[in-house]
Amino acid sequence: MTVPPAPPRRIGLFGGSFDPPHRAHRVLAETALAALALDQLRWLPAGAPWQKTGHVLAEPQHRAAMVALAIDGEPRFVLDERELHRRGPSYTIDSVRELRAEQPQAQLFVVIGQDQYQRLHTWHAFDELLGSVTWAVAAREGQLPRPDAALAGRPHRVEVLPMPRLDVSATVIRQRAARGEDLTALVAPAVARYIALHQLYRDPAGH
Ligand code: ATP
Repeated sequence: MTVPPAPPRRIGLFGGSFDPPHRAHRVLAETALAALALDQLRWLPAGAPWQKTGHVLAEPQHRAAMVALAIDGEPRFVLDERELHRRGPSYTIDSVRELRAEQPQAQLFVVIGQDQYQRLHTWHAFDELLGSVTWAVAAREGQLPRPDAALAGRPHRVEVLPMPRLDVSATVIRQRAARGEDLTALVAPAVARYIALHQLYRDPAGH
């Protein structure tokens, strides 16, 4: 008789456009796994990221495929496509509510960089979301984890992640890809091959 695996008790949620997933995403995810002793870290590519309007995103199936390549080799990483399948804007609160119902035994951690932590008060259903998870925050490009003044007097659980400084952004990667430059230092080799094969980001105005 095989014993089913115990349900995960500590689950991380790592959302983003992942357009494309890059080296800092992987390091941030590995840092979160270790620092928070997570049983599982779910990568959630956003379907329609309602706060990012600066560029046209690569097709959902491309971003999901690249996340699958980026998480390869770490069995605690899971590609969670729920936000790609959901209609309308991708709100973290909807994913948190769903996961609470699916995994009632688990403690949920939302993993974010400082740029997102700073704008947390602008997130949809912020009041409900703030206290319903633990926030795992990493410094980003020299900006240390620090709440915006809007969070003053709003108690919430925060874990600061010991993330090494990595000045990498998907924006810079898309710009480099548009110029046909080498991406191997910035993304996983399989992701670089995928971008080249599908000729992603060749048009700097979109895709
Ligand atoms: P873009 O340049 O398109 O805005 P991005 O590089 O910020 O994209 P996202 O997919 O939006 O990538 O990021 C997902 C999460 O990863 C966010 O919480 C973001 O703060 C975090 N993150 C991304 N890059 C870094 C980095 N270099 N250091 C720390 N955190 C990062």
